[in-house]
Amino acid sequence: PGALYVVATPIGNLADLSMRAIETLRQVDVIAAEDTRHSRYLLQHHAIDTPCISLHEHNEQQRSEVLLQRLLKGESVALISDAGTPLISDPGYRLVSLLKSHGLSVVPIPGACAVIAALSASGLRSDSFTFEGFLPSKANALRQQLESLQHETRTMIFYESPKRVLASLQIMVEVLGEQRLACLARELTKLHETIRTASLVELRDWVQRDLHQQKGEIVLLVEGAQESQRADKQEIDRVLQLLIAELP
Ligand code: SAM
Repeated sequence: PGALYVVATPIGNLADLSMRAIETLRQVDVIAAEDTRHSRYLLQHHAIDTPCISLHEHNEQQRSEVLLQRLLKGESVALISDAGTPLISDPGYRLVSLLKSHGLSVVPIPGACAVIAALSASGLRSDSFTFEGFLPSKANALRQQLESLQHETRTMIFYESPKRVLASLQIMVEVLGEQRLACLARELTKLHETIRTASLVELRDWVQRDLHQQKGEIVLLVEGAQESQRADKQEIDRVLQLLIAELP
C-alpha cells in the first residue's frame, strides 16, 4: 500500500514551505486539501500540479474511506490544510487514526505551526506547555475554562479570533490576575507580524487603544501559575478535606 504524507504548509509567508514538502506534493498521486481553491495559490506558486480533492470538517469521514481504498491500491496521498500543520486545530485526525488502525504508514513532513512559532519567540517558558486550541466564544464558557486553568503551571497557548481578543484579555485579567505575563503573537511570518510580551493588563490596555491589534490571526500565550501557588492550593485542599472529615 501507499503512504499518507502529512505536509505542513506556510502560515502566511509562502517561502515557508520546505524543499521536502514541495517534492512530496509534486510526487504523490493526490493531495487532500482542506480547501482546494485556497491551496491552489500556494501550489501554483511552487509549480505543483498534482490533482487535489477536498477533505474538510464536513466530509472527513467519507473522504477518509475513499482515501483508505486508494492507499490500499498503492496510491500515495498528501494531506494539507489551509495553513500550517494539518490536525493542529485543523482536519485530519479521523483520517490519520483510520489509516493507522489499518496498519498503513503515515509520514509527517514538518514545517510551520503557529503554536510553535509563537512560543519560540514569546520569551515565555518553553520547557513545558499546554496547547488549548481555540478559546470558547461565549463569555461564560471562557471564564469557566480559564478558572479551570488558574493553577496550571505550564505555559498556556490559545488560538484566538481577532473579534474576541479584547474580551478574552479582559476576562484573563479578571481570572488570572493583572500581573500574569502573556504574549500576543499576531500575523506571524506576514507583513504586519507583531509579537509583544507584557503583563495581561498591559496587553489588554494596548489592544484596547490600538485597533490594529484586533485584526488578523492571533496566538495568545499566558505564563503558567507559580509552582508555589499550586502548592498553596494543594495545601488548602488537603486541610479542607481534613476539616470536612471532622464535620458532624
Ligand atoms: N494548523 C494551523 C497551525 O499549524 O498553526 C492552525 C489552524 S487554525 C484553524 C487557525 C488559527 O491559527 C488562527 O485563527 C490563529 O489563531 C492561528 N494562526 C494561523 N496562522 C497564524 C499566523 N500567521 N499568525 C498568528 N496566528 C496564526
